[in-house]
Amino acid sequence: MTERVTFFDTKIDFLKGVGPQRASLLNTELNIFTYRDLIQYYPFRHEDRTRFVTIAELSEALPSAQVIGRIRDWAVVGEGPKKRLVAEFTDHTGSMDLVWFQGITHFEKFLRPGAEYIAYGKPIAFGSKYSITHPELDPLTAENEQGSTFHPIYNLTEKLRRMRVDSKLIARMMQQLLEVAYPHIHETLPNSLLEQYRMISKADAIENIHLPKSQAWLKQAERRLKFEELFYNQLRLIKNKLIHKTEYPGQVFRNMKLLNRFYKEFMPFQLTEAQKRVLREIHGDLVSGKQMNRLLQGDVGSGKTIVAFITMLMAIDNGAQACIMAPTEILADQHYYGLKVFADQLGLTIGRLTGSTRTKGRRIIHEQLQSGLMHIIVGTHALLEDVVQFKNLGLCIIDEQHRFGVAQRARLWNKNQDIYPHMMVMTATPIPRTLAMTLYGNLDLSVIDELPAGRKPIKTVHRYDTHRLEVFGFMRQQIEQGRQVYVVYPLIEESEKLDFKDLMDGHESITRAFPNHPIGVLHGRMTGYDKDFEMERFVKGETKIMVATTVIEVGVNVPNASVMVVESAERFGLAQLHQLRGRVGRGAEQSYCILMTDYKLSKETRTRIETLVKTNNGFEIADVDLQLRGPGDLSGTQQSGIADLILADLAKDGAILMAARESAQQILAEDPDLVLPQHAPIRNQVEVQREDETNWSRIS
Ligand code: ADP
Ligand code: MG
Repeated sequence: MTERVTFFDTKIDFLKGVGPQRASLLNTELNIFTYRDLIQYYPFRHEDRTRFVTIAELSEALPSAQVIGRIRDWAVVGEGPKKRLVAEFTDHTGSMDLVWFQGITHFEKFLRPGAEYIAYGKPIAFGSKYSITHPELDPLTAENEQGSTFHPIYNLTEKLRRMRVDSKLIARMMQQLLEVAYPHIHETLPNSLLEQYRMISKADAIENIHLPKSQAWLKQAERRLKFEELFYNQLRLIKNKLIHKTEYPGQVFRNMKLLNRFYKEFMPFQLTEAQKRVLREIHGDLVSGKQMNRLLQGDVGSGKTIVAFITMLMAIDNGAQACIMAPTEILADQHYYGLKVFADQLGLTIGRLTGSTRTKGRRIIHEQLQSGLMHIIVGTHALLEDVVQFKNLGLCIIDEQHRFGVAQRARLWNKNQDIYPHMMVMTATPIPRTLAMTLYGNLDLSVIDELPAGRKPIKTVHRYDTHRLEVFGFMRQQIEQGRQVYVVYPLIEESEKLDFKDLMDGHESITRAFPNHPIGVLHGRMTGYDKDFEMERFVKGETKIMVATTVIEVGVNVPNASVMVVESAERFGLAQLHQLRGRVGRGAEQSYCILMTDYKLSKETRTRIETLVKTNNGFEIADVDLQLRGPGDLSGTQQSGIADLILADLAKDGAILMAARESAQQILAEDPDLVLPQHAPIRNQVEVQREDETNWSRIS
C-alpha cells in the first residue's frame, strides 16, 4: 500500500521556534510528532483577553478579570507556608492586591515600582479589597494595551510546565504552524453541507479553534469541527451497516402458524403498542433475506421476554433453532423458567446450558441441539463452547449485551455454517439516544418505550442510615401483608473483603431484627448450587427477606417482592440503582424502593438520589447519568465508536449529532460508494482516516 506523505507529516522539529529539545518533549509528553498531531491538539478552553475591567468593576462573579494598573509597592509578609509577596496594584478607580506564594524571589526582581502592567486572574474579595493570587502579569506595551484575543489553554503535563512549556508557548507554535499550514488545510466536507448548515471552511475552523478572532468565530469553529467529527463517525457506522446488509444474507422466516396458534390460545395478555411495533420491525428483518442485527432496548419490566419468545417462534416455525445467552447463571435461569412456561404450552423443547450443567445433561443437550430435536436453548457463556453445535441455528438473542464482547458475539455467529443466524441484542439499560446512535449506530434499533398498562409506578424514597429502625418497621409491615423484601449491599471489587463483611453484618442484624421471618442470603462467593437453592426459596416465598449483593441486579423476577432496600446507595451508579429498583414493581401490589445513605453526601450523589426519587423513566435517568458522568464512563468501553470524538460531547451536542447522522444517511443513500464528484472531499477524508488507522495498527 502506498502511503501519501503530505505537508502534515512533517516532523514538528522543523517548525520555527521548536527545535530538537522541545520537539522531543512534545513527543514524549503529548504524543505530538508531526504537524498533523500539533494542529489537532485542540485547546480545552479559551480565556477572554479582549476586555479590560477597572478595579472598581471587579466582582467575585467574574471567573477571571484583566486589569491595567501600576505597581505601587510590595512587601513579603507571613511565615512558613503563609509566606507571600503582596503587591499593591492601582488604577484611577482604586487599589487591589496581587499575591504570590511561589516564585517570591523571582517577582521581587521582576517587579518595577511605578511601572504599568496587565494583570490577569480570578478576583477574590477580602473585606472591601480585591486580590488576585498568582496573576498572569505582563508589562504594558503599545500592542497589548489594545486588548488581546481569546487565549487558548492547552492540556499540559507537570513536566512540560517545569520545562517552561506553557499554553502561551504552544499558542505561539500554533501561530507559526498556522501561518504555513493554512493553504494546506483541505476542505473535508462537501459544499452542499457547508451551505446547508452555514458552516465555515475547515481551514478557518482550524485556525479559530486555536486562535479565535472573536467569540463568534470560536463558536463557529467548534460547531463546524463537532459536526465533522460526528458526521464521519456516523458515516462509518451507517456504511458498515449497509455493507453488512449487502454482504450477509439471512434465512427467511415466513411461516407464522406457531405464532398464530400461540396468539389465539395462550397469549397471557394484550401486547402493548410498543411491543407490537417492535415485533413488526423484527418481522420485517426476518423476511428481508438479510441477516438481522438489531438492538432491542426496553426499560426493566417493559416486557422484552415475550418479544424474545415470539421472535423465537418465527424462527422455529421455519425449521430453525433459537438460542438466548445471558451473562449470569441466575439470569439464564430466569429466562429459562420464563420461557419454559410458553414453550411447554406449544410442545416445544427447551433446554438450559450453564457452567453448572452436569456432564451427562450436557451430552444430551449437545445431541439434541445437533439433531435439531431441541428448539430453544437458554444459557450462559457455556453456549459459546465449540462442542455446542446446532442443526440449524436461525436466531441468537443476547441479553444485557454490554456484558459481552464483540468476539463473543462473533462466536455465536459462527455456530451456523451456511448462513449466519439472525442476531438480536437486548438491553434493559436504557441508553440516551445520542449514545445509542454512536455506540450501536451499526445496529438497527428498536425501543419498547411503554410499560404494560396498569403497572403501579414504584414509590422511591431516600432515608438516612439513622432511620434504619423505621425502615425495619416498614419492612415488617409489608411482610405481614404477605410481601417479600430485598435488601441489597454494594459489592465492589477493590474493597471486596470489607464489603463482604458489611453484607454479613447486615445479614446478622436483620436476622436479629426479624427473628420470626426466614431470611435468605445471596452473593457471588456462593456456588451455583447454593445460589439456586436460595433463589428458589425466595421465589417460592419460603424466605421473606433476601439479603444480597448486586448479583440480583439484572433480570430476576419475583412478582411478590414489593420492597427493595438499597444499603449505601451512594456507592451505586444511577443506572445500577435503576436496575436494582426494577426488581420490584413486577406484581399487582404497590412497590417501594428505599435508598439508604449516610448523612454526608456529595452534590453529585444528591442529584443521583433525587433523580431516582423523582422519576421511574429509565431514559430520563440515562440522560441525567450522561450529563453527570459523560459518555466515556457511561459506555465503559474503549472499543466503542466514540474514541474519535474529540470536541463533540454526546451529552450536549445531540442536535448536531442528529443533523450529522441525517446528512450521512442522505449522502450514502444517494451515493453509497461516494463516487459523485461533489462527494470528493468525503472520499478523500475517508481515505485519509483509513490510512491513519493502518498506520496505527502497524505501530501498536
Ligand atoms: P423485561 O423487559 O424487564 O425483561 P419482562 O419481560 O420480564 O420485562 O416482563 C415483566 C413482566 O411484565 C412479566 O411478568 C411479564 O409477564 C409482564 N408483561 C410483559 N408484557 C406485558 C403486557 N403487554 N401486558 C401485561 N403484562 C406484561
Ligand atoms: Mg428481562
